[in-house]
Amino acid sequence: MMEVQVTCTGCGSGNEVHPDTAAHKLECHVCKSVTDLRFTEEHEAGILKDCPVCSRQDFYKQKDFNRKIGVALFVIAAILSIWTYGLSLLALYLVDLLLFRKLSLVAICYKCRTNFRNVSNMKDLPDFDHEMNDRIVYSDHDFKGKPLSH
Ligand SMILES: [Zn+2]
Ligand SMILES: [Zn+2]
Repeated sequence: MMEVQVTCTGCGSGNEVHPDTAAHKLECHVCKSVTDLRFTEEHEAGILKDCPVCSRQDFYKQKDFNRKIGVALFVIAAILSIWTYGLSLLALYLVDLLLFRKLSLVAICYKCRTNFRNVSNMKDLPDFDHEMNDRIVYSDHDFKGKPLSH
């Protein structure tokens, strides 16, 4: 099922939610401010076409790298390298290469930064585009799901 992580406009916390057409509001678990949601049956089926938070249709995909786990693994490998003569760092490099580089993708809404995981049409979504990002964020341009072609 698609996982949605809504960034709270009040405090910036991430709130996890699953698509549910019956759910119209999300209360932040930290500051209790409420975000309106508009989930559709497409969302329930894992298809991302419109943003349930801001209704925009402009998303980009990127690798879903978990920074916290990455840092923790690096610290462990660095400590172990004292006894393994650096082999643990090499092992970490390989694990990173094999595992994390291949990690699943996350789709992100340009406008409101909502994150979407387990999106079934992920491969149809474009990569991050700086020009689109600037025009959406700074001049509030709406591309309506038609990415710039370079
Ligand atoms: Zn909040
Ligand atoms: Zn959005």
